[in-house]
Amino acid sequence: MKYIFMTGGVVSSLGKGITGASIGKLLQLHGYKVNMIKMDPYINVDPGTMNPFQHGEVYVTADGAEADLDLGTYERFLDMITTRENTNTAGHIYQTVINKERRGDYNGGTVQVIPHITDEIKKRFSVFEKKVDITIVEIGGTIGDIEGLPFIEATRQFILSKKREDVMSIHLTLVPYISGANELKTKPTQHSVNKLREIGIVPDMIVCRTQYPITASMINKISLFCNVPPEAVVEARSCSSIYYIPESLHEQDVDKFIMKRLGLKSKIKFDSKWFEYVKRQNKSKKVINIGVIGKYADLKDAYKSIDESIKISAMDINVNVNINYISSEDKNLLSIIKKMHGILVPGGFGIRGIEGKIAAIKYARENKVPFFGICLGMQCCVIEAARNLLGLKNANSTEIDAKTPYPVIEMLEEQKDVKYLGGTMRLGNYEAKLVKGSLARDLYKSDTIVERHRHRYEMNPDYVEKFSKAGFDVSGYHKGILPEIVEIKKHPFFIGVQFHPEFGARPMKTHPLFQGFVKACVKRAK
Ligand code: GLN
Repeated sequence: MKYIFMTGGVVSSLGKGITGASIGKLLQLHGYKVNMIKMDPYINVDPGTMNPFQHGEVYVTADGAEADLDLGTYERFLDMITTRENTNTAGHIYQTVINKERRGDYNGGTVQVIPHITDEIKKRFSVFEKKVDITIVEIGGTIGDIEGLPFIEATRQFILSKKREDVMSIHLTLVPYISGANELKTKPTQHSVNKLREIGIVPDMIVCRTQYPITASMINKISLFCNVPPEAVVEARSCSSIYYIPESLHEQDVDKFIMKRLGLKSKIKFDSKWFEYVKRQNKSKKVINIGVIGKYADLKDAYKSIDESIKISAMDINVNVNINYISSEDKNLLSIIKKMHGILVPGGFGIRGIEGKIAAIKYARENKVPFFGICLGMQCCVIEAARNLLGLKNANSTEIDAKTPYPVIEMLEEQKDVKYLGGTMRLGNYEAKLVKGSLARDLYKSDTIVERHRHRYEMNPDYVEKFSKAGFDVSGYHKGILPEIVEIKKHPFFIGVQFHPEFGARPMKTHPLFQGFVKACVKRAK
């Protein structure tokens, strides 16, 4: 088993997840089994209770962990399925250690950051021992952060405990461009590497995030000051699609260097099909406009997996897509969405912006604009249909209006006794059976599906029959009773799903619902 540790320096949001996943992809293309682990140094037990403004999208693993959005990047790049073992936070690690202490497991000892917290961290580094060939560990945060220290210290101890050829460290850093001097600057990189070495970690490779190409003399300078050979200084230049990064690293022989350092040889003939696939849409002239109507229109990261799923579907059929994030509270909402070839209403929580979403759905339904509702988006299309197709005035979800006369969306029975907010939603994989002859059944080409969930409310089964008479059908059920999918047959594409299909799309393996939606948008654009 080989380990690669990814740390980040200078600033956050440099794309450690994407760089790590790109390296993972290259190693996979050489025939290795790769898994990835995220270590988040914050005290929240998971990001599930965090506002998307703080943390972007909350990703959901197959087994129901609420996790960092980097896990979505891992899944999409490596075509893998993540579980609880892929996600860790300081909060969860401390909780585990404190629970052990309360049980008396430490036999009267004083419980300390070193060794108890660091031991727990190290245990989690090696969860994939014997299951894969290479684990890539991404240490969240930036070198120098106080809260990241136990993770860096655990990394140092871990590296020391392994043979040199079994573990390496890669540091991702920023090489900023200073416009006055018209120069790229390496000093922040030198400082950041110094900080890392102070703790006892010597990076084997330095990946420089930069807007402009770094020159040979800069490479030599970084090499000299940071004590790495020049071939171990590479650039990760900003590019128009994150999916081009593996190829860009491959062109710089990053995989060659890593494999040499870890004593690995290519297991199979390197296959560059993936590189070709992700470049497809670039060659096309066709453009479609999709409107995503949500609460966090200014914060694309809040809808990361939806964004990627749409792009992947567009890639698959060689079209370019403009994804327009539109606030459901925008006063000009209806005039903006008129320009769209398709409308997607994503998941969300709480009352804000609901009526705008419902108005957008009404427009899509009446004007035969392709519509795709996800989780709260599905719930909104049920509310819209109740009010405008069934004439149930003030129909609503009890999340929005607890006293609605027509609770078409209601809290799940098992949710009614929930006391703690964290980790208690209906989370992770659940099975649904699809109705024969439905759009959902046609798209999935299967009678049974398994998809990931994250919600407390559901469509009220009492209304299913009434809806069906109005041409608004339930086309998927969990355990024969819980509605999971709704659709309108007499419409070019109108579907709402209670689950999150966006966690299932990958390059070369698009998601059937996104694919169907994007194809319907292309048709509308003609
Ligand atoms: N707020 C809704 C619920 O809890 C929808 C959740 C979501 O969109 N993820 O059921």
